[in-house]
Amino acid sequence: MSRLAQVQEKYEESQLYRIRHSVAHIMAQAVLEMFPDGKITIGPPVENGFYYDFDLPRNLTPEDLEQIEKRMRQIIEAGHEFKKTVISAEEAKKIFANQPYKLELIEGLEKGRFDEYGNPLQEKPEISIYQHDTFVDLCRGPHVQNTKEINPHAFKLTSIAGAYWRGNEKNKMLQRIYGTAWETASQLEEYLWKLEEAKKRDHRKLGKELDLFSVSDDVGPGLILWHPKGAMIRVLVEDFSRNAHLENGYEWVFSPHIGRAHLWETSGHLDFYKESMYAPMDIEGEDYYAKPMNCPFHIEIFKSHLRSYRDLPRRYAEYGTVYRYERSGVLHGLTRVRGFTQDDAHIFCRPDQVEEEISRALEFSLYVLRSMGLQDFKAYLSTKPEHSVGDPAAWGKATEALRRAIDAHEIPYEVDEGGGAFYGPKIDLKVMDALGREWQLSTIQFDFNLPERFGLEYIGEDGQPHRPYMVHRALLGSMERFFGVLIEHFAGAFPVWMAPVQAVLIPIADRHLEYAREIAKKLRAAGMRVELDERPERMNSKIRDAQNQKVPYMLVIGDNEMKAEQVSVRVRDGSQQNNISLNEFLLRINDRVAKRTAGL
Ligand SMILES: [Zn+2]
Ligand SMILES: [Zn+2]
Repeated sequence: MSRLAQVQEKYEESQLYRIRHSVAHIMAQAVLEMFPDGKITIGPPVENGFYYDFDLPRNLTPEDLEQIEKRMRQIIEAGHEFKKTVISAEEAKKIFANQPYKLELIEGLEKGRFDEYGNPLQEKPEISIYQHDTFVDLCRGPHVQNTKEINPHAFKLTSIAGAYWRGNEKNKMLQRIYGTAWETASQLEEYLWKLEEAKKRDHRKLGKELDLFSVSDDVGPGLILWHPKGAMIRVLVEDFSRNAHLENGYEWVFSPHIGRAHLWETSGHLDFYKESMYAPMDIEGEDYYAKPMNCPFHIEIFKSHLRSYRDLPRRYAEYGTVYRYERSGVLHGLTRVRGFTQDDAHIFCRPDQVEEEISRALEFSLYVLRSMGLQDFKAYLSTKPEHSVGDPAAWGKATEALRRAIDAHEIPYEVDEGGGAFYGPKIDLKVMDALGREWQLSTIQFDFNLPERFGLEYIGEDGQPHRPYMVHRALLGSMERFFGVLIEHFAGAFPVWMAPVQAVLIPIADRHLEYAREIAKKLRAAGMRVELDERPERMNSKIRDAQNQKVPYMLVIGDNEMKAEQVSVRVRDGSQQNNISLNEFLLRINDRVAKRTAGL
């Protein structure tokens, strides 16, 4: 079973799932009391809550939701039992005689095609209903035994949305009420706070406000334009990471954006990855494809020489831009795009080097991620699936190397037994951001397939050819997606070393302009990224603008500062330091940059 299916199964067995499912029924009861002619459809629990879709005589308003919530609390406090009854299709049709959507679902159940949410089924299910108080729903459960198990102050109806019956735009548009429910009121509060905070941190919103990136209709969806400030951050991150790679024994390479069809046939991409690739372009009668991955290019670099056992390991790294087809409906800001740049690396090594290489790769990933201000990690180890290529002994060795590397670095981890790709086991490293959300970033992935397909070899100590091990490793993953994670993690308030503008100079009056320009020149010469706000605006509005742009430091320059040849520093966190020398200010910045701290 896949990890996702395991997580879902665990959720379905939890009390929280029963609570959410039961609250959905209670909500449907309250809605039907408000609209006795209303039609009910489906109402499943989902992540963090539940929803229910209704066909109602008029549009719901936020005031309605308040009314419904109030009634739900009464129902919960009254302490009703939830009772399950298994019935025949005939009986079900009688009970739901004036509920056409339910009748349609019952027909699906009868034929054994769909469950009560309209999901396709393999086996014919039994038909059951759940009743509490006056409300009956077609349902297989599970539910709480009594509404008393539900905390009447730990749920909330969060929004109203349109949804087509069965998700099909040819069907009628229904009204969906979303709600969230928890075991305790404080869990609910925390969740609502996170929801609010996530909205404020949305990278698409901040990307606009801070002028970091955009997507242009003329260029095309899912294709990112990096504006100067966003690009500055990318340059800083890339430079830091490239140097770190070089210091850690990686060799930097570059490769083209397209390759001949023959290459992708050899790699197998045209067999098993074609639906993610764009249509070929014709060059002198031959098909070329935009690359969906960098691996074949790095393999060709490895193959360009005869390699001896003494030449290994080879670690090739590149910021490689790849293009993958995604349906326009699933594109999302920076996190789901059609063209992106991976910080990709491929390690070619001998079997006796595998252990150390994996340990180094993991150590290196953690070092770079921590340098980016991320602290909480979780690893997922995916092992051999039923259908796989490669020698089982090699799989065992590789899997053990991965497991020992995680153990040695004391990261919490889960094993996805049988969840690996057919060509090798892997570690996925997820980071938790400031809101506790998990983001999948680094991957260390063995490959027993490509070395075989490309016939990779090195000459061993015995003078005989041997097949090297190959490991794919992406660290930050996609630069686009990683940037989205950074924006949301820091809520746009980047640490000093990463901030595209580190300080804004704010002269109070025109007579301070000259001195301000001089200071700007000195700070730039010292390597700082500064802007001088020369607009004829009031000081307070300039400060407010800089604050909104989340610039770490605002240097206010007036008569006092000019006379004493000093500056006054207003810090993004609200603190202030008046009349300090330029040198003192530079020392402070240099320290924050050198340590890459989040502190100001
Ligand atoms: Zn139900
Ligand atoms: Zn690769």
